[in-house]
This record gives sequence, structure tokens and C-alpha cells, in this order.
Amino acid sequence: MITSEERAGHRSALTVATWELWKRPDHWIAYTGLSVATMLALTGVFAASIAIASSQVLLCFLLAGLAIAHTEATRRIERQRRSMSVTPHINMTSVWVLPGAILLPPQLTALLVTVIYLHLGYRSWAGLRTVNPHRTVANATSMTLTAFAAWAAVQFVGADTASVTSICAASLAFFLMNAVFTGTGLYFAAPKKATVQALLGSWDDNILEASTVCIGALVLVVLPHQPVLVLLVFLPLYLLQRSVLIKQLEELATTDQKTQLLNATTWQQGAVREVARAERENGQFGALMIDLDHFKSINDTYGHLAGDDVLKGVAALVKAETRTQDLAGRFGGEEFVVLLTSSSKHESVAVAERIRQRISEMVIKTQDNEGNPVVIEQRTASVGVATFPLDGRTIDEVMASADASVYAAKRNGRNRVVSSPDLATVAEVTLEAVAA
Ligand code: GH3
Ligand code: MG
Ligand code: MG
Repeated sequence: MITSEERAGHRSALTVATWELWKRPDHWIAYTGLSVATMLALTGVFAASIAIASSQVLLCFLLAGLAIAHTEATRRIERQRRSMSVTPHINMTSVWVLPGAILLPPQLTALLVTVIYLHLGYRSWAGLRTVNPHRTVANATSMTLTAFAAWAAVQFVGADTASVTSICAASLAFFLMNAVFTGTGLYFAAPKKATVQALLGSWDDNILEASTVCIGALVLVVLPHQPVLVLLVFLPLYLLQRSVLIKQLEELATTDQKTQLLNATTWQQGAVREVARAERENGQFGALMIDLDHFKSINDTYGHLAGDDVLKGVAALVKAETRTQDLAGRFGGEEFVVLLTSSSKHESVAVAERIRQRISEMVIKTQDNEGNPVVIEQRTASVGVATFPLDGRTIDEVMASADASVYAAKRNGRNRVVSSPDLATVAEVTLEAVAA
């Protein structure tokens, strides 16, 4: 007979066993566990050694109240923003945590962060597929450790908390440590896929993060003297949060989510602009259409997720092999397109050949459907090359020519580059082969 306590114990064990957390990489779990333990241990040490004044408790309540009011005022934007996971999360909570880090003893700042994140989790993020409890705990922990670093910076410079030196030191430490913790978390989440750019975030992401730190510094100056005036930051904060949402929507609308290349519509728009420019300046450009060979067999053998990893690998390679002014896009499925600005046919064929070669040397380490590690290599691609104005006077004509070249490459054994003047030769070879 199972007692109700046993059943409850069994149920909670089952629940723990089914946590999404366990699907995260081991390194990430270990790193997050270590961060939480460090944060708790430091909070304990601070609580045992630093006295709390009643005015600081009041300030903590005030900051928590302001943060909660901010969350309530921007709930809809925040929900929309967090339902998309296109950019690493930019944290608006810095605005309230930074003043806390300097004005409060660290154990109270830890409490402040806990209250802010519990409220955010409960009110703004509840039920979102993109937000899991373990991510919220990891973010809150990074935020607390960042606040501890800002507090330590103030202790280190030894100046008055309201001095310019202290505020600058704390803001700098806060910004840097936030970047370090975010970058480390991202690294452990997917070490093999981590690029320096992805870990550091884009220029825009950093400007936004710095803006929240700046607003936090202003709140810090105003709060002890004129708490009511802190309400003045609500409107700029609302606008800032909305601009992050707009940036995320823009990225979503223009980028192919799987490969981070331009999506077909955006690529097409850019290409039309390039035609206009080339016409105006009497210039030229090249267009490549890259179709992976026998791609379906990867899906059939290892599953779609492995196939996706190959697509991401090819996309990164195409991006690396082209210049910033070129347009690299995914047309759909396993077809990629590249527009090489101001390039002749000769130059375009050379780039196409380099990409073809690099794809054949590419090694993708991934997992099959059962989670077994697999190495996918020696994959090939067929590339069609066409140029403006030689092969067409509109982008559709140029792409039709590149498309015809891809088919010619496929018919003639795949893993090759074909450009339009070659087509006649290819057709002759094919006809000869048929005649023989
Ligand atoms: P070919 O050499 O003639 O180009 O053969 P292929 O297998 O590459 O071409 P086919 O057009 O027969 O198959 C393309 C496959 O690409 C079929 C489809 O399941 C797969 N595919 C399309 N989009 C995606 C995607 O986003 N992810 C994955 N994993 N597969 C995709
Ligand atoms: Mg295809
Ligand atoms: Mg294909």
C-alpha cells in the first residue's frame, strides 16, 4: 500500500526528473549550478557580516515598488519581446538593480533581484515557450553577481557612493560583468556554435544594454533626494523597451531564422536595389545559386535536426566566404543565393568555386535522431553563376539564368560550378553523352 506521503514524494521526484533543465548541455547545468551556489554563499557571507540600516530597507522596498510598477506598465511589450528569441535577452532590470547595487548592502540587492525576477516571471513571462524557470534562475543569478561586482567596484575605489568616481566605477563594472556572465552562459549553452560575435552581442545590443545602465546611474543619483522624480524615467524606458521590440521584429522580418542569412523577400529587395545601382553606374554584379546535392539523404539518414545543422554550417561558410557588401540569403529549403556586388563573371565564378570547394571540405559534428553523435562530411553542392547585365537585365532574368546553370550542374554530375556561357558546352557534352 502506497502512503500519500510516498505518492507525493514519488510525484515530486517525477516532476524533477521531467524538468526541461535536464535537456540543457551538462556544461551549462554545471556552470549555472556553480553560479547559483556562489551567489548564495556570497549572499550568506554578506548577510553575516554587513549590517542593514532601516533606511536601506525602505530604499529596497522603494526600488522593488518602482521595478514592479515598470514591469506592470510594460507588460505587453515585454511579453511580445520575450516570445521571440531572436536576440540575446537585453535586460531592462539593470535600471533598478544598478542603483540597488550601490545604495544597498549586497544581501538586500540579492533580495531585490529575487523580487523583480519572481514578479517578471509570474506576470510577464508566465506560459511563454521561450522562457523556462531555469533560464529565469540563471538570469537572476547573473544579475545578482553583476550587482555584487558593481558593489565591490565601489568598495574598491573607496569614494563616497554618491561621487562621480563611484558611480562611474559601478556602472562600468556592472556593464562589463553583465557582458561576461551573459557571454559565458551563452558559451556553455552551445560551445561548438559559439562565435565571438554571438558571445559579445551586436553593437546595437551593447548600446541598448549601456543605455539601461546609464538610466540606472541617473536613477541612482535622483532616488535618495527626489524619489518622485524617478517617475520621469518611465517614459524614456518605455520607448527604449519598445525600440528593442521593433529591432527584434525587424530582425524577424528580414532574417531567415534557421541560418541567420537574409530571407528570400529581403534578399530580393536588396537585389532589386543593386540592379538599379548597377544600371545607374553602368556597373555589373554576379549572382550565385547554391543547391546542396542529395540533401534529402541527410534528413533520411540522420533526421531533420542534423540536416538543419548542415544548413547552418553552409550558411556560416557562405557568409565567411563573401564580403560585407554582398547579399547572402536563403531562398528556401537547401538553396542559398549570393549577390556579389561589382563583380565580373570571372570573379563570380572564382568565388563560386571557392564556396563549392569549402562545402566539400566541411565537417559537421551533430547528432542523429537517437542522440548519437554523427559526423557529416564530404557533402557537395551545385552552383549556378549568372551576371548582370550579361545574363539578364532584371533580377528575375539573372536568377533564371543562375537557376538554369544549377540544373545543368545537376545533370552533369553535381559538385560543380556552371555559368551561363558554359551552358552551351554543357548541353553539347550532354548531347554527346546521350548520342554515345
Ligand atoms: P538534389 O541533389 O537533386 O538537389 O537532391 P536534394 O535531395 O538536395 O533535393 P530535393 O529537392 O529532392 O530535396 C530537398 C530536401 O530538403 C527535401 C526537404 O525535406 C529538405 N529540406 C527543405 N528545407 C529543409 C529544412 O529547413 N531543414 C531540413 N533539415 N531539411 C529541409
Ligand atoms: Mg533544391
Ligand atoms: Mg538539393
